[in-house]
Amino acid sequence: MTRIALLSQRLANQIAAGEVVERPASVVKELLENCLDAGADRVEIEVEQGGTKLIRIRDNGAGIEKDDLGLALSRHATSKISNLDDLENIASLGFRGEALASICSVSRLELTSRARSAQGESAWRVEAAGQEMSTAVSPASHPPGSTVEVRDLFFNTPARKKFLRTEKTEFDRLDEVVKRLALSRFDVAFLLRHNQRAIHHLDVARSEQEKQRRVALVCGPAFVENSIHIDIEASGLRLWGWVSLPTFSRSQADLQYFYVNGRIIRDKLVSHAVKQAYKDVLFHGRHPAFVLYLELQPALVDVNVHPTKHEVRFRDSRLVHDFLFRALHKALAGVRPQDSLVAHSERAAYAPGAIDPGTGELLQSGGAWAGEFSGQGRISFNAPSSAASSGGSAYYSSSGQQGLTPTQVADQISAYAELSKDEDVPPLGFAIAQLHGIYILAQNKLGLVVVDMHAAHERITYERMKESAANDGIRAQPLLVPLSIAVSQAEADCAEQQAEALLALGLGVERVASESVVVRQIPVILASADIEQLVRDVLADVREHGSSERVSNYQDELMSTMACHGSVRANRQLTIPEMNALLRDMERTERSGQCNHGRPTWVLQSIDQLDKLFLRGQ
Ligand code: ADP
Ligand code: MG
Repeated sequence: MTRIALLSQRLANQIAAGEVVERPASVVKELLENCLDAGADRVEIEVEQGGTKLIRIRDNGAGIEKDDLGLALSRHATSKISNLDDLENIASLGFRGEALASICSVSRLELTSRARSAQGESAWRVEAAGQEMSTAVSPASHPPGSTVEVRDLFFNTPARKKFLRTEKTEFDRLDEVVKRLALSRFDVAFLLRHNQRAIHHLDVARSEQEKQRRVALVCGPAFVENSIHIDIEASGLRLWGWVSLPTFSRSQADLQYFYVNGRIIRDKLVSHAVKQAYKDVLFHGRHPAFVLYLELQPALVDVNVHPTKHEVRFRDSRLVHDFLFRALHKALAGVRPQDSLVAHSERAAYAPGAIDPGTGELLQSGGAWAGEFSGQGRISFNAPSSAASSGGSAYYSSSGQQGLTPTQVADQISAYAELSKDEDVPPLGFAIAQLHGIYILAQNKLGLVVVDMHAAHERITYERMKESAANDGIRAQPLLVPLSIAVSQAEADCAEQQAEALLALGLGVERVASESVVVRQIPVILASADIEQLVRDVLADVREHGSSERVSNYQDELMSTMACHGSVRANRQLTIPEMNALLRDMERTERSGQCNHGRPTWVLQSIDQLDKLFLRGQ
């Protein structure tokens, strides 16, 4: 055994660095947090080779006094807390006092600063050298604020360096850090350059429109165009931000930003609440996109649970979960065709011709519905992986021929605005024909509306059943001639055990033999359904969920199955008045933009887009 000795400063810091400094992105995170803690309202980030060669971050914050410069680089030195009470009510992003020391121990770091308080004095620079990391301060020139320059990350810890990925991967992660922080502080301007190329230039955003514009620049314009803005307050909690329409879903959970009191977090409770809220409307296996801000009293949330601070602990997690779920659920339920139109008209101020941060290309937004539901929209369902790999805003590839120019989009948006005010033409227009017994064609002021009649009717039936189940129970009607169905013994068992629960859903099913049941009553709303198939499917569902569980726990799923049977099938000829009635029902029904499986129920091809297809006016 060797004797015990104190670690050198550098070694101790390098060990600490193992926890917080994993890659260039983590350096940028720590340095940016320091800038924000210093009260800066402008930060400039310059990186080279994905941050491995150089990361230079300059801010216009409070700066550091000459005498404190050395301390800034030592471990357990912080200006942000001094006692345990401070920790309880932490308002700053940093507080452990070890980031600079850690980064410094595994790179060549220079900190230059000029304190705002030290008027007239010049700026100073500090570096740390040797095993003991002794600091040397020298005069420098710098405006009020600080610059931290980190060169050759991990040059002295080769084992760490080996874990770095390609320049692009490292840069993408670093960029993600910048985006997260940029979305957390609209009152701060962020500039990011990579290898001398401008990546982000985000000015301070004060008005709602400016904030929305920043979100569009960071998350891509398609996100903003296909999301709803919410702002809800209840029981001391406030939730605001943008949530995507269910049809703008993604194959990965990569466009999800959630902030608690300005701090980005990833939390199981939050994900669960969001997932629940989208449950009814999201296509299977897809993920919603959102930028959301939860605000609550600092004392109600504990941020000091994780070194990189991604997790938080809510004092009353149940309350938070319920609040999130309810707020989002309600917002999503409220989306009607006419609301989308209004939402779009409100967005008219946002500039559609934004630059894609990933490719530097001009993004042509295809208009909300064009991109969402037409041919391109299909692509998003069939080939989610390609959509995801092409990155943030390129989701609706906005491909050349169908893409509109920014001016055209602007025109279209004002047309939406006009339309939504127009009393005479309803949002989904008037039916003109039925196509192949599957689609309803309707004309509204903007162009052609195509409705998948089964999908739409299914949603309407489902929402009605849920509503009546919640109010005074599902109304049932007896069958004039009870229908007997041959089933398996297991299904008959299930029908027998769950008879009461099925009755609550309006289904009167009675076992009459070991392999036979009789249906005596069905919900009024499903009068036209194929009853035998309906009962078989419901029994199959009940069995799949395990018949021991209470059926009411998955009543929604069962009603969704039932609604599917009770809805107009393909190849049913509808009259024009019937079609119009369906369109009006859609306008009135919650979540009518998606069928029960999350697929869109209607699409719009505007006259502009049709003109494009025929190369008119080019
Ligand atoms: P922490 O942020 O946890 O306090 P750091 O090691 O990140 O620890 O920073 C140490 C101290 O250096 C901070 O408490 C702060 O006083 C000072 N500091 C670091 N960066 C800046 C900056 N950009 N502007 C002003 N002060 C800074
Ligand atoms: Mg810090």
